[in-house]
Amino acid sequence: MLRRTVRLVAAFTLAATTSLVAAVTTAAPAHADGCYTWNRTLREGMSGEDVRQLQIRISGYPGQGNVLAIDGIFGPATANAVQRFKNAYNLDNNKTAGPAVFDRLYALQDNDCTPKNFSYAELNDCNSNWSGGAVSASQARANALVSMWKLQAMRHALGDQPIVVTSAFRSHACNNAVGGSATSRHLYGDAVDLGAGPHSLCTLAQRARHHGFREILGPGYPGHNDHTHVAHKSSQTWSAPNCGI
Ligand SMILES: [Zn+2]
Repeated sequence: MLRRTVRLVAAFTLAATTSLVAAVTTAAPAHADGCYTWNRTLREGMSGEDVRQLQIRISGYPGQGNVLAIDGIFGPATANAVQRFKNAYNLDNNKTAGPAVFDRLYALQDNDCTPKNFSYAELNDCNSNWSGGAVSASQARANALVSMWKLQAMRHALGDQPIVVTSAFRSHACNNAVGGSATSRHLYGDAVDLGAGPHSLCTLAQRARHHGFREILGPGYPGHNDHTHVAHKSSQTWSAPNCGI
């Protein structure tokens, strides 16, 4: 009888321990789905790889005409981008990136760190390894990732309706085949051509001005009446005369 009691107590203890572990696991902060996990709340004055990972994902919130630097330094521009991101998703109206921001980003990203509504494959119908462009394959791929997060921000601002991608990364060979400019940003991986869909080409061109694209070419600009081109660039070039840009 004593032995049986001991065994029961042991079983109960084990069960209690197991459920306690389960409760603790359930209560732990949400983690990224194989991509990246933030381990501290980020605010102005901090720096590091976690800041840089945040900047990539909020690069679509720089404010009209601006581009957010992805430098790992949490300065005023990053703080403002955090606040715009939080406002876009109805989170607290401040400039701190904590669990609420990270949970939202985890929900938005896939295991390969792309935002859920865009993919590497979608941004590269030229080749499978991102080689042959104007920058290294890894740089082209990294540039494409930033463009995807900018597009995700734009997509959300436009009511979460699909954005149609018709062309993006091109090697020199792919660029020559379609008669692209020798200085095309498609060679760098950050250019994306958008087709008409739920949104008109002009709506896309107009909205792109708010999401970190220094190059916007659309209807009325030579060769761009059937798509709107958005890209990163060192200086601002916006031209879509038929759209008032
Ligand atoms: Zn283009």
